Amino acid sequence: MHGKNALVIGGGIAGLCAALELARFDIRVELVEKAAVLGGHARMLTCKATDACVRCGACFVEERLKAVIENPNIRVHLGSRVESVKNSGRFSVVLSDSMGPASSCEADAVIIASGFSIFNPGTKPYGFGRFSNVITNLDLEGMLKIQGIARRPSDNRTPEKLAFIQCVGSRDAKSGHLWCSRICCGSALRMSRLIKSRQPDIAISIFYIDMQSSGRDFQKFFDESRNELRLIRAIPADVFRTENDRLQMTYFDPASREPKDEIFDMIVLSVGLCPGEDLKGLAGLFGMELSDTGFADANQKSMISTQSGVFAAGTVLGPMGISESVASAGKAAWEAVKYLKI
Ligand SMILES: Cc1cc2nc3c(=O)[nH]c(=O)nc-3n(C[C@H](O)[C@H](O)[C@H](O)COP(=O)(O)OP(=O)(O)OC[C@H]3O[C@@H](n4cnc5c(N)ncnc54)[C@H](O)[C@@H]3O)c2cc1C
Ligand code: SF4
Ligand code: SF4
Repeated sequence: MHGKNALVIGGGIAGLCAALELARFDIRVELVEKAAVLGGHARMLTCKATDACVRCGACFVEERLKAVIENPNIRVHLGSRVESVKNSGRFSVVLSDSMGPASSCEADAVIIASGFSIFNPGTKPYGFGRFSNVITNLDLEGMLKIQGIARRPSDNRTPEKLAFIQCVGSRDAKSGHLWCSRICCGSALRMSRLIKSRQPDIAISIFYIDMQSSGRDFQKFFDESRNELRLIRAIPADVFRTENDRLQMTYFDPASREPKDEIFDMIVLSVGLCPGEDLKGLAGLFGMELSDTGFADANQKSMISTQSGVFAAGTVLGPMGISESVASAGKAAWEAVKYLKI
């Protein structure tokens, strides 16, 4: 036994995979998760399979979760955060615990996998937070996971017309978020097709700038989607509630080249992936530099430094999907193993 210990911060798909990889090398892992449950955002996503699997990746997390819980080399700290760190060649870490007294642990290497936050769309003129039938894509994931179908939150009725607005808080100079969030085009198409398979009478429109390809069969999936969905290349200006509790959207219609008002029953905002709310604090504690986007930059030497023993995994590095997060966790764990000279 080499007796090496590692700390993994964040129990989303990236943290789970990093912990499992490290444990394979007989490294004792302290996995710290601030929430009361493991799984992060991926745990909130629904299976989008219709007649076949559409490779959304949502089921990866359950499988990894079970493996982590059963692994004797991994100790899970739920409801915990890193309170303070001393680095004297080894990291001496104090953990706060929302459910009990503070504890401490020692680590020879650290992987930061604290994930992302979603963009707050309340700042956009789409009525989020004011009109209950304007929801986020993450809200719709939750609705489909729990209820199986789309319903208007205000009256529980099936919407006749549903619209997605893409790129909310991404590719957006006003918010200072110029990046593409990479997952929301695929997510909107997969959720739309799942809804159409269960509620074929709902007319679905997707307002988009252009479609970000995700995955190997994306083009085929996109072409098939055109048969059942209305795809409009425009970003709407605003949304108002009508007297009979419907939603009026104004957009510049590319076909007529004129502004157009259209009524919908429910609107889904495809909100962007932003740097996690704790990332700045964690970067300060562990002496890491962040790029000017607020994400850690994989190419920055200070981040994946074999000198410091601190590594990053998953969406800490920028917007990415589940399989990419899994791959980046494997890479971070491998860098940590090399650093520990095991
Ligand atoms: C609406 C939506 C739909 C999506 N659909 C898809 C899809 O269909 N396919 C796909 O591949 N991807 C999809 N994604 C992206 C997917 O959710 C991410 O790729 C994945 O969740 C990233 O995992 P992660 O571990 O990096 O981050 P997260 O899932 O954010 O996990 C980070 C974890 O760290 C914890 N944490 C944060 N700060 C601290 C701290 N200070 N201390 C301890 N713990 C902390 C958090 O509580 C969380 O559990 C979607 C995302 C959204 C928002
Ligand atoms: S990858 Fe997605 S669609 Fe396929 S089985 Fe898993 S959760 Fe369902
Ligand atoms: S993935 Fe699509 S919706 Fe998301 S930011 Fe990129 S282009 Fe916009």
